[in-house]
Amino acid sequence: MSPASRADCEALDAADALGRLRRQFRIPEGLIYLDGNSLGPVPESVSGALAQAVERDWGRGLVRSWNNADWIELPQRIGAAIARLIGAEADEVIVADSTSVNLFKVLSAALRMRPDRAVILSEPGNFPTDLYIAQGLIEQLGGRHTLRLVERDALGQAIGPDVAAVMLTQVDYRSGHRLDLEAISARARAAGAITIWDLAHSAGAFEVDLNAAGADFAVGCGYKYLNGGPGAPAFLFVARRHQQAFTQPLSGWMGHARPFAFETGYQPASGIGRYLCGTPPVLSMIALERGVDTVLAALGHGGMAALRAKSVALCELFIEQVERRCAAFGLTLASPRDASSRGSQVSFASADGDSGYAIIQALIARGVIGDFRAPDILRFGFAPLYVRHVDAWDAAEALAEIMRTEAWNRPEFLTRQAVT
Ligand SMILES: *Cc1c(COP(=O)(O)O)cnc(C)c1O
Repeated sequence: MSPASRADCEALDAADALGRLRRQFRIPEGLIYLDGNSLGPVPESVSGALAQAVERDWGRGLVRSWNNADWIELPQRIGAAIARLIGAEADEVIVADSTSVNLFKVLSAALRMRPDRAVILSEPGNFPTDLYIAQGLIEQLGGRHTLRLVERDALGQAIGPDVAAVMLTQVDYRSGHRLDLEAISARARAAGAITIWDLAHSAGAFEVDLNAAGADFAVGCGYKYLNGGPGAPAFLFVARRHQQAFTQPLSGWMGHARPFAFETGYQPASGIGRYLCGTPPVLSMIALERGVDTVLAALGHGGMAALRAKSVALCELFIEQVERRCAAFGLTLASPRDASSRGSQVSFASADGDSGYAIIQALIARGVIGDFRAPDILRFGFAPLYVRHVDAWDAAEALAEIMRTEAWNRPEFLTRQAVT
């Protein structure tokens, strides 16, 4: 049963075992933050951790801190922490570079594993950078491969004997539709294709079990549900059985078996370490580690299952309230109605793109932060670590008020900024 009043929401929040985890974050008073799927909020512990890294480790320790403060181990250490959230072993995940760059690395390795096949299979609605990276790699490889884009419902049949790699994002960034990672991975395995999962909108939001699904490769963002900060380093997963098979093309010194032997020839590290390229961005890594810790904290409060249950409850509440209050104003649900096919976000399509953008701007002006995704999507992320039932309730009410009064229809809300 969804709550029928704001008081019901307050009661649910008071009884919520995950409720205390909100205190891990610095969220401005009065702000409703529904954009943690784009940039998670800053954990309270980050300022202190960064200050210590700057004053003590960089300031006084200087170059010695690569050893003394374990800077050199950060990619492996944070990788091992993220592994706990995505059903991987500690030595199957490493933190490095951006999601885009990591995708380039693992897609390269995947294609080399299937030299007799030439198709990369994906969806036309996949996040653009994923498609762009595949296009760029195909060009680098001489144009022998094809990026084949098929609609979601046709994916199963499209995984045939010519498919080298199935490259998909588990949760659609626009609609929040969640693919069946297990079923598609099984289908790919049966067809001899390699799977590459983009977990940008999965990791930290709900349970993912890569090894139970037999997934081959994965990548994902540090700055979304992992709360690692703007431009945080990303992660990548390589199933242990594939780690020795091939090198990735960005053969930088940090992926060398002995970086500090300064040898002339490249020899890849034996495990996941070969997926590193250059020097890790230490300060960003330290912030990311604190961000990942905020999610690990949930493991002591019912774990990912509790996070998922709360996320579903928040999304259902928001959908119900928006549909009840806004049906007359041209907003239609753009996310799956069935929670099991949804990630941790809810999207509504607006009557047209211009009003959609303006509605989000008007909401932001009232302290409700969501975002707009072209052409016409209003997107609301419900990160269960810190979003409350009252937030979902109040956000729906604010949206209804803006639609009823047409408060969005003002020049300052209609002018688009660089980042939407
Ligand atoms: C956010 C996102 C990215 C971002 O990639 P960057 O390299 O960090 O800019 C990639 N893929 C998906 C599916 C995303 O949602």
